[in-house]
Amino acid sequence: MSSLAPLPLDAPGSSSAPADILHEVFGYSQFRGPQQDIVDHVVGGGDALVLMPTGGGKSLCYQIPAIARQRAGRGVSVVVSPLIALMHDQVGALHEAGVNAAFLNSTLDWEQTQDVERRMLRGEITLLYAAPERVNTPRFLSQLDSLKERGKLSLFAIDEAHCVSQWGHDFRPEYRALTVLHERYPGVPRIALTATADALTRADIVERLQLEEARQFVSSFDRPNIRYTIVEKKEATTQLLRFIEREHEGDAGVVYCQSRKRVEDVAVMLKGAGINALPYHAGLDAALRQKHQDRFLREEGVVMVATIAFGMGIDKPDVRFVGHLDMPKNIEGYYQETGRAGRDGAPADAWMTYGLQDVVNQRRMIDESPAGEEFKQVMRGKLDALLSLAEASDCRRVRLLGYFGEKSTPCGNCDNCLNPPQVWDGTDAARKLLSTIYRVQQLSGISFGAGHIMDILRGKETEKVKQFGHERISTFGIGAEFSEVQLRGVLRQLIATGALAVDAEAFNTLKLTEGSRAVLKGEANVTLRESVSSPAARGGGKPRREKAARGAPSPAAAALDGDGQKRFEALKAWRAEVAREHNLPAYVIFHDATLAAISERAPATLEDLQGISGIGTKKLEAYGSEVLRVCSAF
Ligand code: ADP
Ligand code: ZN
Repeated sequence: MSSLAPLPLDAPGSSSAPADILHEVFGYSQFRGPQQDIVDHVVGGGDALVLMPTGGGKSLCYQIPAIARQRAGRGVSVVVSPLIALMHDQVGALHEAGVNAAFLNSTLDWEQTQDVERRMLRGEITLLYAAPERVNTPRFLSQLDSLKERGKLSLFAIDEAHCVSQWGHDFRPEYRALTVLHERYPGVPRIALTATADALTRADIVERLQLEEARQFVSSFDRPNIRYTIVEKKEATTQLLRFIEREHEGDAGVVYCQSRKRVEDVAVMLKGAGINALPYHAGLDAALRQKHQDRFLREEGVVMVATIAFGMGIDKPDVRFVGHLDMPKNIEGYYQETGRAGRDGAPADAWMTYGLQDVVNQRRMIDESPAGEEFKQVMRGKLDALLSLAEASDCRRVRLLGYFGEKSTPCGNCDNCLNPPQVWDGTDAARKLLSTIYRVQQLSGISFGAGHIMDILRGKETEKVKQFGHERISTFGIGAEFSEVQLRGVLRQLIATGALAVDAEAFNTLKLTEGSRAVLKGEANVTLRESVSSPAARGGGKPRREKAARGAPSPAAAALDGDGQKRFEALKAWRAEVAREHNLPAYVIFHDATLAAISERAPATLEDLQGISGIGTKKLEAYGSEVLRVCSAF
């Protein structure tokens, strides 16, 4: 880590006005969205629950109050975070900005731990990051007691607060014990933050963390720069490869898969195709996992192929796409994972393949889980919401935001808006399928799988059809006009909407449900997207996002002229060196957008650098003259 002798910026006596801190320490000119209100509320000693999408700027909501309160002589703020593997970089980023921060976790040896504890007890540390299991140890609590007695315990920030809820997707039992903070230190303000915000999880956070009195700050969850696309699954890995080659060559991205095996296979496939891909899942050795994560954060253009074990707290700003080869469990998970794309605000893609098998697998996982029936019901409801998003032929964003309780209008930046899918009325096909299933069951007394049912409807005299005498069924051949692709689509939607069930214990055979009746009686309409690969749908012109310019993988630099581009490239090379020396990701030194702004301005003096977004006092001091030297070559 960088050596950081004097840290005058936290010193009591410097301005504790939030706007000054924003400007001086972080180099930003304005608060974003609700940041100002949140910061004012917490600086003033209020409790807060902050719900903001990934990339919305949650960190400043507790970092600025922590600095302001330290400057006002109130001492240490404790940040509870489950992300041990990221604490080093989070703290490193604060050091770069000149803030006195440290972490306590199992990666420190005894001496280092004691050193941090000593500095903490002296009240010198402004932001102390600690894992939840650490917070609840007698040793740590007695240290907090000592701080409290001397009026040096300033604030608790509880990051990733949804970890306290079993309805969230990252439940951590240790989070439940955090009520001790409130009970033991009632006068110390608390701010809890999360990017997961469905009503159930939110209510659970409030209850579990005893935040009933806290003010709630709920931001819009829209991420306008993310383009949502959900395609029908054919050969998923080939589809993925085409998508990356066509739209994201050389970009950093994350690809989520359901299983470890699949992660390994896909990583190998992508690597074979010349893509810089790495696997990440809980079955890998911890050191290797950390190494892959470091490479993803520190190198450019790495594609991480991962299970959902990867990603929480990853604040890499320039992830250009998030792919899902398998469907997640629910919309919260999908939104959280896709939200890791485009934190820098530049265009990014969320791309998913989805097929019948996903529906079957997810339903089975719920059915077979050891959880109680009530829990399973909630999980099924959540899965249904995601399925209807996948089946939708209208704006994806309207549906996503609607799920989080926000009303909006068609966005113009999702697959369905850009290239409205052809829809066809599948009501007739659905009725014919369901009545075939019914008749077959009547005749043979057993259930059959999708393939056989479709064969009957399409009038195919297969061995199996003849063996069971199913050519005698009255629906035999009455669906000859439907293609297999169409019928599969109908089946998928029937299963997705609960009008048909798959019996996993009986060879994936199809069973009618309560919900079948309405469709059979013609009371429910079935509208389907035309298969994406069908010729009708293909002609539509989704404007493909061309790379701004070859060799300029950063959208930030797209607008620069020739010399500007050269400065940008030179600054990036310089930044990579500094980052390596400090053992930090490059974006912690300067974001691409900051380098682009510098390149555009072609600075000759330190004054020229002032006011560029992302250059605070400390960074100007530390890097200003180097930046000028690099730029002077052009
Ligand atoms: P979150 O934790 O909500 O996902 P972060 O706190 O990591 O988001 O912020 C996302 C990005 O936005 C970071 O790169 C951060 O530096 C930047 N950012 C946050 N607030 C501001 C602001 N007021 N002005 C400019 N950039 C900001
Ligand atoms: Zn849309």
